[in-house]
Amino acid sequence: MPSHRILPPLACALLLAASVVLRSQPQAPSQPVSPGRWFKGNTHTHTVNSDGDSTPDEVVRWYREHGYQFLVLTDHNYLTSVEGLNALHGANDKFLVIAGEEVTTSAESKPVHVNGLAVESLVAPPKAATIAETLQQSVDGVRAANGIPHVNHPNFGWALTAEHLAQLERTRLFEVFNGHPQVNNVGGGGAPGLEEMWDRILTGGRLMFAIAVDDAHHFKRPGDPNASGPGRGWVFVRAPRLEARAIVEALDRGDFYASTGVELAEYDGTSSGITMKVRATTWSRYRMQFIGRGGRVLTEAEGPAASYTFKGDEGYVRAKVWESNGHVAWTQPVPVGASAPK
Ligand SMILES: [Zn+2]
Ligand SMILES: [Zn+2]
Repeated sequence: MPSHRILPPLACALLLAASVVLRSQPQAPSQPVSPGRWFKGNTHTHTVNSDGDSTPDEVVRWYREHGYQFLVLTDHNYLTSVEGLNALHGANDKFLVIAGEEVTTSAESKPVHVNGLAVESLVAPPKAATIAETLQQSVDGVRAANGIPHVNHPNFGWALTAEHLAQLERTRLFEVFNGHPQVNNVGGGGAPGLEEMWDRILTGGRLMFAIAVDDAHHFKRPGDPNASGPGRGWVFVRAPRLEARAIVEALDRGDFYASTGVELAEYDGTSSGITMKVRATTWSRYRMQFIGRGGRVLTEAEGPAASYTFKGDEGYVRAKVWESNGHVAWTQPVPVGASAPK
């Protein structure tokens, strides 16, 4: 299982402490730490190459100027070249654009969308009879193009169920949060929300990792509640370096956490337990939950730091941090004991 630890060198820690009052946007540590560093990125974004309202240059510029270290461009069934964008906006160790595609199709009159991160060629959207087959063929198409697949917005069009995700092979990644205003993240009308779906899948014995994304389409409609704007959901990925293959492989093995506005200063998930600490922002307060089988809250801690020692029969333990204005971070489940998800 991955062991995550962020321990910036002393000089960096002092700098961060001095600047914490001034910063409103969370930032990843800027100094290399062993064995990996944390990079903030968004893995789901559209441009005018599909149904976005802005050019790739404008879109990349937004993320570059808002504290991200990487961005994956994922237009519907279109592979935008990132070479020129990286020549213009990329900077060693600071910012990287990664090629991608949203493999977009439908089955049983429902939308089936799967992102391909770092695909090396365009993936044709499959046409199959069932949602399950279409989903699997999309995932396999992304793998064949040497990309990393993640399943998008399961509740969009009420298309995908926990069963669809649980039987899916060759990916463990799905979106637990998507910033688009019409994707039904929290469920309703008898359909589970995405986090509830996640716990059902884990409890059923299948290990999956949860991503948060923007699915940004609109950069020219600030303040419009119906717009799908940027800056709503992202991931912090722990990778040895800021390079496309290193970033997407870290995602693939679950070495990341998802966030809508909470940054962790420390996260350590080992075979004995989980220790974590929030990079607290002024005036915010925090509640930390450790969650196990069936979505049950095993323990809750009030404050910006907490730890949990495994008892051995939890099946899995994952952490969720609530910030007092509603922002959330989700860490990935650590398998525990004989009934651990695989
Ligand atoms: Zn989509
Ligand atoms: Zn999309």
